Amino acid sequence: MPPSPPPSPRLPPLPSAAIVEETWRLGGTCVNVGCVPKKVSWHAADIAEKLRQAEAYGFKVPEGADKIDWPMFKEKRDKYIERLNGIYERSASSFPVVCRRCKRQS
Ligand SMILES: Cc1cc2nc3c(=O)[nH]c(=O)nc-3n(C[C@H](O)[C@H](O)[C@H](O)COP(=O)(O)OP(=O)(O)OC[C@H]3O[C@@H](n4cnc5c(N)ncnc54)[C@H](O)[C@@H]3O)c2cc1C
Repeated sequence: MPPSPPPSPRLPPLPSAAIVEETWRLGGTCVNVGCVPKKVSWHAADIAEKLRQAEAYGFKVPEGADKIDWPMFKEKRDKYIERLNGIYERSASSFPVVCRRCKRQS
């Protein structure tokens, strides 16, 4: 007989209220100007670098394929971050929040 699984850890109770002192978009540094835009930008640079190296590995890469459409890239990256901001806004709506300059107030 397999050993029984360890008992699940007790989760701390959810807060009944929160104060959000946010002057810009919800999500903080990581979502808005840190990890997320950094990783999306790094991934685009990595694709460009791989396209540049691809011919040496026998791939036929059309001229200019490694050039990025920067306005299109930036628009899509900004939209992705806005979608994450929306997720934070919606999750904040599950308990009373005092939110300075957020889109919603409750
Ligand atoms: C370019 C960059 C890339 C990063 N990449 C990664 C990564 O890949 N992986 C990783 O693990 N970490 C990464 N980090 C670090 C990560 O963003 C931080 O560790 C994380 O955001 C810290 O979270 P926090 O909640 O402590 O603070 P924050 O997310 O910075 O939240 C603090 C919030 O407080 C607000 N604030 C500040 N002062 C005041 C004030 N006086 N009044 C009201 N509000 C205020 C700010 O606007 C901010 O929204 C990166 C950071 C940067 C800058």
